[in-house]
Amino acid sequence: MFSSTAAKTQISDLAILGGTPVFTEKIHVGKPNVPDRELLLERVNDILDRQWFTNDGPYVQELEAKLAAFLGVKHCIAMCNGTIALEIAIRATELTGEVIVPSFTFIATAHALQWQGITPVFCDVAPGTHHLDPKRVEELITPRTTGILGVHLWGQACEIEALEEIAQRRNLTLLFDAAHAFACSHNGQMIGSFGRAEVFSFHATKFFNTFEGGAITTNDGDLARKMRFMRNFGFAGYDDVQYVGTNGKMNEISAAMGLTMLDSLGAIIQRNQENYHIYQEQLSGLPGMRFIEHDEDEQRNYQYIVIEIDEGVAGINRDALVKILHAENVIARRYFYPGCHQMEPYRSYFPHAGLLLPNTNKLVTQVMALPTGVSVQPEEVVKICDMIRFVLAHAVEIKQRVYVE
Ligand SMILES: *Cc1c(COP(=O)(O)O)cnc(C)c1O
Repeated sequence: MFSSTAAKTQISDLAILGGTPVFTEKIHVGKPNVPDRELLLERVNDILDRQWFTNDGPYVQELEAKLAAFLGVKHCIAMCNGTIALEIAIRATELTGEVIVPSFTFIATAHALQWQGITPVFCDVAPGTHHLDPKRVEELITPRTTGILGVHLWGQACEIEALEEIAQRRNLTLLFDAAHAFACSHNGQMIGSFGRAEVFSFHATKFFNTFEGGAITTNDGDLARKMRFMRNFGFAGYDDVQYVGTNGKMNEISAAMGLTMLDSLGAIIQRNQENYHIYQEQLSGLPGMRFIEHDEDEQRNYQYIVIEIDEGVAGINRDALVKILHAENVIARRYFYPGCHQMEPYRSYFPHAGLLLPNTNKLVTQVMALPTGVSVQPEEVVKICDMIRFVLAHAVEIKQRVYVE
């Protein structure tokens, strides 16, 4: 529980103008969800007794089997992190040349391609969904294109059917970056079995975490076998190397964390959903603010509380609101500022990429994420919402007093 001070009644109460911050400690976006401590420590003791720390250990095998069953997919290959998992999925599916990706994503989506000499071709997203716009994808296909890498942003499925149709017709490989979408469904089917393969991140800041970790899921047995070799230096047996490989192995402590997170999953989703409902009730329909809704007919992890600020209507811009909240110790985050295409090396490689990314360019100035997770109490969410409503209600006056570059 974060301790807090009284609500704001006048503009000079804002911490950025010298008032006392609403919270005495920082509340972060993506503070790790902690599962049952005793259960985790029991498993850690088992690992120390067994002295089998890594290399496809019993907890890794158990986690893979449980994740595959939970996601309704034939194969799950646990990895040391989501980025290496992406790199291995891209390598194992033999992508080369150009691959179409959104620019409105975390930088690792693009880097996993560039790292192995494949050109990420940045495609615009649809403003409503924040997902790859299939029409724009089709326009970017060239003779060098070998694949499409879609991203299920905010735990919501991207346009899976439309992308599948394009990939099939144009003979392209379809992969999904599902880093945000663990425990989420699409038309009732869990994300994890779409495309050739899907890639999860279990980084500490993600909904389901193994400290560091990730996984690839696929229904393709040959591909799964190849990715298992690649995860372990290409070894197919003692002294028998079959592929160029890397070290993508998950260790036993991470797998123990994953198994314990699975045991606690229901409680974590419940807290996230409770927080989401408060945010939704308090922030939906405010002028100049769009609250990104989660489809409650589907399975959702409710890990991303995302809003868009339209300065023209709200009277204040996203960056100013983020600055004001930071002063109050609410560490809201700009997502994905400034966009992959405006970061190096892509900014230098493709200086005109932005011309084809009007929606992305707008979103990177308007979108922000608010804190949730098991460490954020519903009462704290209420206080965060009160503050945002206060700022919006006095936007014009506040803007005159808060200098923003
Ligand atoms: C977190 C994330 C990754 C990278 O995963 P790591 O486990 O941190 O390597 C990739 N793509 C997206 C969209 C992410 O959010």
